[in-house]
Amino acid sequence: MRKILIAGNWKMNKTYDEAVVLADELARELADGTGDVEVAVCPPTVDLKGVAEVIAQQDAPFGLGAQNVYFEEAGAYTGETAPNMLEGLCDYCIIGHSERREYFGETDEDVNKKAKKLMEHGIIPISCCGEPLEIREAGTHVEYVVSQIKADTEGLDLSDPSKYVIAYEPIWAIGTGKTATADDAQEVCGAIRDTLRELFGDEVADGVRIQYGGSAKPENIAELVAKPDVDGALVGGASLKADSFAAMVKNCM
Ligand code: PEP
Repeated sequence: MRKILIAGNWKMNKTYDEAVVLADELARELADGTGDVEVAVCPPTVDLKGVAEVIAQQDAPFGLGAQNVYFEEAGAYTGETAPNMLEGLCDYCIIGHSERREYFGETDEDVNKKAKKLMEHGIIPISCCGEPLEIREAGTHVEYVVSQIKADTEGLDLSDPSKYVIAYEPIWAIGTGKTATADDAQEVCGAIRDTLRELFGDEVADGVRIQYGGSAKPENIAELVAKPDVDGALVGGASLKADSFAAMVKNCM
């Protein structure tokens, strides 16, 4: 059975001190546990250690994720973070977010290499895909996302499918307040699962979690995760306040 995963992407928000406060507030909000729902927060890289300390001190019921990684082990890559630097610190790492694809030129080939490296280091990739508005309007969004999935998963070892997560994030719904309907999310998440089935077989298709992302909030999360192929959410804006993020988790329990 797939476990729902609610992950907060804090993006480039929160100084070190602010991140520690937010993690502390979230630990208090979720002090009674999260039931069958798995929860993670993904702060900026410089905040990871501080948030890890809060999680350890408070025995908080959520994991930790990074927002990016490079696919080389070490070397002259100024500004980058190697996978072994995240090992032991992070449970998850977001890769291929549409903002990284748009502003930093991340390609499907990069996303695929990053996933392989993260998995070698025992870190679960949260691999993002999703179509821009013009593709949605042209009606070719399913084909677009399926082609991203084929490229992003090429050659991955998914023998433990619980160690790989896909986030379907239609770009037109990110940070815009325009959520895809639950049926829109199901249409593409279902197509992603069909693609995994075709490429890797039933065990992988039934085991990989597929999140929805794009203006998810406490008011719409229950309807989204009620869909058979939507296994949680990657949450931007609504993860920056402990009460709204905790409400999303509770609405999935
Ligand atoms: C995101 O950037 O991953 C995201 C889903 O953002 P928001 O929830 O703010 O749309």
